[in-house]
Amino acid sequence: MLRAKISVVVPFYNEAESVEMFFDMVIPILKRAKLNFEVLCVNDGSRDNTLELLVGLKGKYPEIKIIDFSRNFGKDAAITAGLDFAEGNCIVPMDCDLQDPPELIIDMLKKWKQGFEVVLAQRTDRSQDTLAKRITAGWFYKIYNWLSEPKLPEDVGDFRLMDRKVTDAIKMFRERKRFMKGLFAFAGFKTAIIEYKRPERSRGTSKWSYMKLWNYAIDGITSFSAFPLKISTYFGLVVTLLAFIRGLWIFFRTVFFGIDVPGYASLIVAILFLGGIQLVSLGIIGEYVGRIYIESKQRPLYIVRDVI
Ligand code: UDP
Ligand code: MG
Repeated sequence: MLRAKISVVVPFYNEAESVEMFFDMVIPILKRAKLNFEVLCVNDGSRDNTLELLVGLKGKYPEIKIIDFSRNFGKDAAITAGLDFAEGNCIVPMDCDLQDPPELIIDMLKKWKQGFEVVLAQRTDRSQDTLAKRITAGWFYKIYNWLSEPKLPEDVGDFRLMDRKVTDAIKMFRERKRFMKGLFAFAGFKTAIIEYKRPERSRGTSKWSYMKLWNYAIDGITSFSAFPLKISTYFGLVVTLLAFIRGLWIFFRTVFFGIDVPGYASLIVAILFLGGIQLVSLGIIGEYVGRIYIESKQRPLYIVRDVI
């Protein structure tokens, strides 16, 4: 009987410090699983010697396949490329900094053999993250899940196992602004969750700044919800109603008590407040128009220099 194959998809961006350690940890575990396997390494435009190290390791581990990008396209594009090239019956995207414990793959495979099509790894505590990151992440999930369908499971990253069917479904999403968590959730399928404690990064540093996280959150919400576009409508309706009531009040007061000139403070507050609201609303529309513009160009999601 033919053995099933597992494809592990790993994005690398300036990870020279982590490369060797990653494979020394992961390969023995994959061998233990007694499956055929391949490790798809996507070199996402690293500026250090990550690529040379990967190529060097191919001699030791022939299961390594390298997809070399022409420049940095971001982690989501890298994972997309990995899914596109993967040949396995099940696919596991994971980070190369060992924050996704490789032993978990064994547990995921067990669930997969029981018939689950998606096995999510959910982190049970975020004590490794800074307080600010935990709070902002918590708020993001609240706002996102309030605005968007389908809901995102909390504290679940890209680390997961997906059946071939799931990957094939996800490969059909070719949008340029790729919020992978949202796409994964959109695909659905029979899902199991296993919990784990997320360890600290083994080597190197995280590539996420707060600005990047903010943009990522905006991408996520605008990709899966059109609600922000409606906020100004509702707000405008309320303000119009209040203005109408206030107008009536002023009209009758003037008729009965005469003209009353003072009112500089209330005027200036109303003007500035409404001006601010209008700019924010324009900005929200701009976020969506910008995305329509980018999507309409139909550019490729990533450009491959070489498959090694
Ligand atoms: N990564 C990538 N392209 C990027 C940024 C990150 O391929 O532009 C990879 C990185 O090499 C790592 C994974 O994405 O394998 C997760 O990155 P990181 O550890 O910085 O993120 P965090 O764990 O802090 O979410
Ligand atoms: Mg990490």
